[in-house]
Amino acid sequence: MEKSILQRAKKEKRTLLTEVESKQVLEKAGISIVRAELAASAAEAVAIGKRLGFPVVLKVASPDIVHKSDIGGVKVGLNNATQVTKAYKEIMAAVKKKQPKAKIHGVSVQPMAKAGVEVIIGMTKDAQFGPVLMFGLGGILVEILKDVSFRIVPLEKKDAKEMIRDIKGYPVLEGYRGQPPSDVAALENMIMKVSAFVEKNPEIKELDLNPVFAYNKGAVAVDARVVLEPDAVK
Ligand code: ADP
Ligand code: MG
Repeated sequence: MEKSILQRAKKEKRTLLTEVESKQVLEKAGISIVRAELAASAAEAVAIGKRLGFPVVLKVASPDIVHKSDIGGVKVGLNNATQVTKAYKEIMAAVKKKQPKAKIHGVSVQPMAKAGVEVIIGMTKDAQFGPVLMFGLGGILVEILKDVSFRIVPLEKKDAKEMIRDIKGYPVLEGYRGQPPSDVAALENMIMKVSAFVEKNPEIKELDLNPVFAYNKGAVAVDARVVLEPDAVK
């Protein structure tokens, strides 16, 4: 993992990487993400938005905030400078109200990704088996129905193929009611890359790509969270 990111986490004695940092390390590992740029002011957010092209998404960038939208820290579909400025102020006000002690780096600015089928790829460490990857369909399917599958790292291609087909919701990825099928091969590739990445970086305690948007061609993580082992930042 990038020394600069690890060093900053160490210096600040924190284990949570922000979305911006998490996506940086994942992109280096060849994992497809929607790149997020850090803005420290509303004016900077507007400038980045103009450069990227609207619509954009703004999210609070803080090493103290795990669930950004829970506290009003995510604004999607921003179409112009006025909307970006307003969103920036609203996010800062929401954080101040809900988590006044949070250290804020600013906001992340990123392109609005087109809608896809939402899936989740995650890694947690099991006391017995070590790193384990999780796959599931996003949203309520994971949260309420717990429709997920697990495989132990390192995975073989066969494991990636199986774990996707194991979930009850798999037909959703095959396409239904006129929906085109999702690019399951792209998801398999992403799972393999995540497996290789966590195998190579034992300082990672947890990882969450939630959600990943799966398309008819390709797949991309729109949110990412990396948590480091406490020992790694001592
Ligand atoms: P958190 O999980 O911390 O609340 P997310 O980054 O996952 O925040 O954002 C919340 C939701 O906003 C996502 O589940 C997704 O539906 C939407 N979203 C986030 N980033 C993008 C993006 N770049 N393009 C389109 N939709 C997005
Ligand atoms: Mg998320």
